[in-house]
Amino acid sequence: MSFNNLGLMTELLQAVSEQGYSQPTLIQAKAIPVVLEGRDVLAGAQTGTGKTAGFTLPLLQRLSAKKITSGHHPVRALILTPTRELAAQIGESVKLYGKHLPLRSTVIFGGVKINPQIQTLRRGVDILVATPGRLLDHVAQKTLDLSHVEILVLDEADRMLDMGFLPDIRKILALLPKRRQNLLFSATFSNEIKRLAGGLLNSPTYIEVAQQNPAAELVQQVVHHVDKKRKRELLSFLIGSRNLQQVLVFTRTKHGANRLSQQLDRDGISSTAIHGNKSQGARTRALADFKRGAVRVLVATDIAARGLDIEQLPYVVNYELPNISEDYVHRIGRTGRAGHVGEAISLVCIDENKLLRDIERLLKTKITTQVVAGYEPNPAIVAEPVKKGRGHHDYAKPRNNRNSSKSGGKWSNSSGRSKSSGQSNRSNARIKNG
Ligand code: AMP
Repeated sequence: MSFNNLGLMTELLQAVSEQGYSQPTLIQAKAIPVVLEGRDVLAGAQTGTGKTAGFTLPLLQRLSAKKITSGHHPVRALILTPTRELAAQIGESVKLYGKHLPLRSTVIFGGVKINPQIQTLRRGVDILVATPGRLLDHVAQKTLDLSHVEILVLDEADRMLDMGFLPDIRKILALLPKRRQNLLFSATFSNEIKRLAGGLLNSPTYIEVAQQNPAAELVQQVVHHVDKKRKRELLSFLIGSRNLQQVLVFTRTKHGANRLSQQLDRDGISSTAIHGNKSQGARTRALADFKRGAVRVLVATDIAARGLDIEQLPYVVNYELPNISEDYVHRIGRTGRAGHVGEAISLVCIDENKLLRDIERLLKTKITTQVVAGYEPNPAIVAEPVKKGRGHHDYAKPRNNRNSSKSGGKWSNSSGRSKSSGQSNRSNARIKNG
């Protein structure tokens, strides 16, 4: 399959080819023609599948088809996302894929000054990428008119509901013209998502990427059992002895992320932390430093699992397992992307064995376990309950969290199928199979 057969215009094909994409991903091949036809879409696809181009390319084409004669550029496409990072990333993709077209786009999210956003909106944009909260701030201030929206995209709809954005989404929907094209992307299909889709979509085409999580297929997963108190030491040892570069490390809490980052620095491993308590500027800087290799380790809470787009990220470390199994899949989705094999290393203490079992149940596979010599768990230590971290959904906060859905059962219709067999640790002779 080639991009040339999808019905895309020259300007878009050129942009795609400049990106170095030789062929469309599965979701792109399925979604692009349907979106071009103007149909509503309900798509089951995760980050890492190429879904952003899957909706952005045809959206750009549909907007270009209708020439705007006046100098006024009303918002004609609205893309809603759960997180600031994801919004920023989609905004970049829109600019990238649309660079040969005369369409204007901007991104709005909270945590930054509203005035520059107001100025940009006033000048007119065709495509608006936004998080729900800040979007409604603009609506309240009458700095945004949504009455010309022709295409609505809800990206990572499951995560938006999970974060309690449903009331905000409903308010936004009420402001849009009735006649419009709707595209809903979600990694999972809970009853809540189905209800939302039912009320929103008009005879949608249902598109599912056969592999729910192709990214994870390219990820070698390994668990190192280790005592909680020795995790930091083991992490430094693994990074140092295997000379790992560009390591994304997940902790459960913001505080834990900061502390670990400081400890790694003291161990001589340059690192920075990224989470919801940091200003947007600080997070953008941290991510940029990590992307260009200026820091070796980025310590993140789960906020970063959604939205971070770092191509060819080789290593993800679960310093602590997430409380919610689905987050494991999202975390490891940061590696092994777009055809590159990645490695997901989990440091698991005895307290986390239940979390590990839950994850394995979700993945429908057992993750290979390896004991690192010198770091064998002390059998005398007994399990303690895992403290609930607050770092789970810690930013782009909805204004009303009370309606936030529980995650239980959210994966009822999906499986994060992942390979666990055949892991080979590339270089560490001290690691033996256990
Ligand atoms: P997404 O799922 O939209 O976050 O995309 C995941 C990654 O795949 C991004 O880094 C994209 O730049 C990359 N990508 C998207 N489409 C293609 C393609 N057709 N070929 C290769 N890489 C792609």
